[in-house]
Amino acid sequence: AGETYDSKNLRTKLVLLGDSGVGKSCIVLRFVRGQFDPSSKVTVGASFLSQTIALQDSTTVKFEIWDTAGQERYASLAPLYYRGAAAAVVVYDITSPDSFQKAQFWVKELQKHGSPGIIMALVGNKADLHESREVASEDAQAYAETNGMFFIETSAKTADNVNQLFEEIAKRLPRGQP
Ligand code: GDP
Ligand code: MG
Repeated sequence: AGETYDSKNLRTKLVLLGDSGVGKSCIVLRFVRGQFDPSSKVTVGASFLSQTIALQDSTTVKFEIWDTAGQERYASLAPLYYRGAAAAVVVYDITSPDSFQKAQFWVKELQKHGSPGIIMALVGNKADLHESREVASEDAQAYAETNGMFFIETSAKTADNVNQLFEEIAKRLPRGQP
């Protein structure tokens, strides 16, 4: 569950999962620093970043974001990484059906081993590459609905829907009693 400072200020651990190369680190850097660096090949810098957002009801949510440094290649290490996470963002690349398959693998892992009540988002990233799209939005939407997740397509490159992704998660976090 979301850890609570008080009823108006939440603090929450968020993890990103998905194939390497789908844009997890770029989504985080776009959200936290407002930047996109197309030349960054490897996961940049620290594996931990935080960012606070304010919602319309004046609640603030501080996301403590754990970005993998390539642990996504080792499924056996993943439970250590997502332990205690209140929110998980499962990312695929809309130009890569393989990455969509891999996203479904991670969803199943989280359903088996994630925190009870974990908020899960399915994210189709690289939406700016729509001319090379190979995963239909409708298919991803249907999969997300079946699995009780919410679905959004983002572009870390153009910033499209990146803030919205985190706002939607923030709205869904369990609230402490006032
Ligand atoms: P990670 O392995 O999932 O962390 O992926 P990265 O964030 O390192 O990104 C992998 C590659 O995809 C990099 O070359 C990025 O520049 C590129 N990339 C990430 N997000 C986007 C996006 O939204 N659009 C496009 N066109 N490229 C992206
Ligand atoms: Mg990365």
